[in-house]
Amino acid sequence: MKKYSAFAVAREALRQHTGWERAWASPEPRAKYDVIIIGAGGHGLATAYYLGKNFGITNVAILEKGWLGGGNTGRNTTIIRSNYLQDASAAIYEKARSLYETMSQDLNYNVMFSPRGVMMLAQTQGEVRGFERTAHANALQGVPTEYIGPKRVKQLVPIINIDGPRYPVLGAIWQARAGTARHDAVAWGYARACSDMGMHVIQKCEVTGVVQSGGKVTGVETTRGHMGCDKLGVVVAGHSGHIADMAGFRLPIESVALQALVSEPIKPCMDVVVMANTVHGYMSQSDKGEMVIGGGTDGYNNYTQRGAFHHIEETVRALVETFPIISRLKMLRQWGGIVDVTGDRSPILSKTPVENMFINCGWGTGGFKAIPGSGWGFAELMAKGHSPLTEAFGLERFHEGRFIDESVAAGVAH
Ligand SMILES: Cc1cc2nc3c(=O)[nH]c(=O)nc-3n(C[C@H](O)[C@H](O)[C@H](O)COP(=O)(O)OP(=O)(O)OC[C@H]3O[C@@H](n4cnc5c(N)ncnc54)[C@H](O)[C@@H]3O)c2cc1C
Repeated sequence: MKKYSAFAVAREALRQHTGWERAWASPEPRAKYDVIIIGAGGHGLATAYYLGKNFGITNVAILEKGWLGGGNTGRNTTIIRSNYLQDASAAIYEKARSLYETMSQDLNYNVMFSPRGVMMLAQTQGEVRGFERTAHANALQGVPTEYIGPKRVKQLVPIINIDGPRYPVLGAIWQARAGTARHDAVAWGYARACSDMGMHVIQKCEVTGVVQSGGKVTGVETTRGHMGCDKLGVVVAGHSGHIADMAGFRLPIESVALQALVSEPIKPCMDVVVMANTVHGYMSQSDKGEMVIGGGTDGYNNYTQRGAFHHIEETVRALVETFPIISRLKMLRQWGGIVDVTGDRSPILSKTPVENMFINCGWGTGGFKAIPGSGWGFAELMAKGHSPLTEAFGLERFHEGRFIDESVAAGVAH
């Protein structure tokens, strides 16, 4: 594929943009692949990319029932951070964050990574202790974060109300090289790079069955016919339970709607990401000027891609309390995604009871930030049968009671 560059933009500007080629191909499916990945979200596409880049495996199809990036990858609020409590989590999220730093160059695609800093407010004594503990854990893990007091919070975010009526801001955990990226671009950049390596990204192709022989996966049934494979990677977020059901096993996953909303655009007023977990709302400002606002998960399982109305009210109330200047902003749109949540709020990157079938799910409300690290580790697991990055996240941890409990440190914190 032709390289994107400043020179190419100038050249195309001079010829009315008639020379751009399609970013990825739309090929006819082959009868058999070495590897099939189900789900062209960020995690599925990143897995395929690192299978090709790190292991030279390129006879790969990525099957997507809708359009690529149309699941949670294109619906999230794009927060990237790696200040997790448990060592295994910090390792995979920090690997991801560091890959985001160079992703645009690596993919030759501008994913607009903006390391503007992420602040998680402490508004109760419990949170103060929790975040101080996380900052200490991060220091041991080599993840640069710091616990800061309310004065510094106010310096970094002048529009914040430190003396909130219900929950004053007592401090925050601050990660200066955390931030945001353009979510669609992450999916598009990986898809383009996969297509460039000769992989097949096949959209509008729903997997309807998992074909096995003697306990081993041999292929999938799809709405575009049967396709054989030696290895199968399932990366379908909220639909993981359905695919597991097709293969004859169960997953410790619940699917719920998580929602977000954006306001009309306004002048720049906040150049960091702020998360307020106690009152529950988080906000950043997009390059266009919209305030991007994250809400909560529904308290019941569903597949609506909308979310319950009362969450909008609660989220907006929490944010108006924290940022009074947004009280007269009009909201432009609201949407939801189906997130896949495990009991310990940590993901599953694992072999399955079916030989050569692997699963990557359970990223729940916070998997956008993990995309490159997850793809890197899951590709290694699929290629070699083990990976230091994914070792702790196997399905067996639920039998062994070896949870990676991030529910306190990360349960609702995207
Ligand atoms: C409102 C909201 C806000 C969020 N905010 C953040 C945030 O700020 N930071 C953060 O890190 N994370 C956030 N997340 C979570 C993050 O979006 C997800 O964890 C991540 O995008 C999951 O990526 P994925 O590739 O696993 O799943 P997806 O992007 O959902 O991709 C899975 C794909 O599989 C496809 N699929 C399903 N079934 C089949 C089938 N049978 N056959 C073929 N294809 C199939 C789907 O169509 C879908 O495209 C948020 C999520 C939501 C919903």
